Amino acid sequence: MSDVTIDTREDHALELDGQPDPASRRSDFLIPPAIGGDFPLTAYLAGNSLGLQPRATRAELMADLDAWEEYGVHGHSEADRPWFPYHEALREPAARLVGAEPREVVIMNSLTVNLHLLLASFYRPTAIRHRIVIEDYAFSSDSYAVRSHVALRGHDPDTAVLRLRPRAGEDTLRTEDVIQTLRDHAHSIATVMIGGVNYLTGEVMDMQAITAVGHEIGATVGWDLAHAAGNVPLQLHDWDVDFAAWCTYKYLNSGPGAIAGAFVHSRHLDDPTLPRLEGWWSTDPASRFEMHPVSAPQRSADAWSLSNPPILAMGPVHTSLLIFDEVGLPALRERSLRLTGYLRGLLESLAERAPIQLVTPADDDHHGAQISVRVQTDVTALADRMSENWGVVADDRKPDIMRLAPAPLYCTFHDCWRAVDALSQELTGEGIA
Ligand SMILES: *Cc1c(COP(=O)(O)O)cnc(C)c1O
Repeated sequence: MSDVTIDTREDHALELDGQPDPASRRSDFLIPPAIGGDFPLTAYLAGNSLGLQPRATRAELMADLDAWEEYGVHGHSEADRPWFPYHEALREPAARLVGAEPREVVIMNSLTVNLHLLLASFYRPTAIRHRIVIEDYAFSSDSYAVRSHVALRGHDPDTAVLRLRPRAGEDTLRTEDVIQTLRDHAHSIATVMIGGVNYLTGEVMDMQAITAVGHEIGATVGWDLAHAAGNVPLQLHDWDVDFAAWCTYKYLNSGPGAIAGAFVHSRHLDDPTLPRLEGWWSTDPASRFEMHPVSAPQRSADAWSLSNPPILAMGPVHTSLLIFDEVGLPALRERSLRLTGYLRGLLESLAERAPIQLVTPADDDHHGAQISVRVQTDVTALADRMSENWGVVADDRKPDIMRLAPAPLYCTFHDCWRAVDALSQELTGEGIA
């Protein structure tokens, strides 16, 4: 519990919003209207689930439609942003976001597909070394992906998938325990694949330390960055991460089901022995149309791409990445820490009067924009009432976790205040102030 008294007045939130902050780009986003409460717009704290639409996205999409209208097939080479090399425009900003060299990154497919394509290369089980390590409360898709991948390679998912559990009575993992598990099973672990920021608890893992120990025991290490990309600073190259994948529709605001990202460390890009699933987009673009039966894979993460990308879905990713480039992650993270610090203070104050429990670690190194709260009531019904009665959009995860994520590009201190005020109203019948 915080020993600092927090100013819970609404006016204070408005004062904080009155201070200019170049990392706030709220006016560049379309904020959904509220369905209830006193304010016209929602307090949208669900950007960790689906980010909001940048105003510039529509024009960018229309430009690609216009090019198709005007050029037909010749758009591949003649469009203002030609389709054939379109993904090149996304490479550098995406690389900056995750701390990678440009050739280590490619925007393609969706997240789970990318996890499978990367596991095909980096999970190379032997009879003894065949385990994959994942966190016990991993997002379901990741669990299914590793279980199915293990089974595909002829191993038993019930024994080959090692699930990291927090200590009894704790909600999040301790780095030292993760490291101990890796050392305890050093000879049987082939691959470690964990969420860099856990979707449920909001915990940021010590990616650098865990990657180093994974390598020490002879495993490959990959990170699911669905909740990390655009949220916390990443240095995938310097951390020596083998592979990573992330979606772009959460903090990256590229729209529902938007195209995902993938990272392969440069160390692996020149390794001809690494097996890979391939398609015509894996091969060198210079000879792609020669239609050789044998590919000439590129020495970049593009070697993992298969198909020509869905151009109409690329523009929104481009728009979004430009915003991150303009603001820069250091400034955004700084704003994010101030917003979550304020939100945490309000929640701790509410916790003195209402049966809620903060699940996300308080330490800045171990949380991003999301604070998860355990409640003792039907969390879905609670989230519905917060929306209907107060215009607050939060995200509920059954059975008892509410996730509140003030995405720093468009959320305000007043949004945080409204969220905790709504929670307080619903749980205690009184507001927060
Ligand atoms: C959001 C999320 C997914 C979703 O997978 P898609 O393939 O994009 O549908 C998967 N894993 C994690 C950890 C997520 O947070």
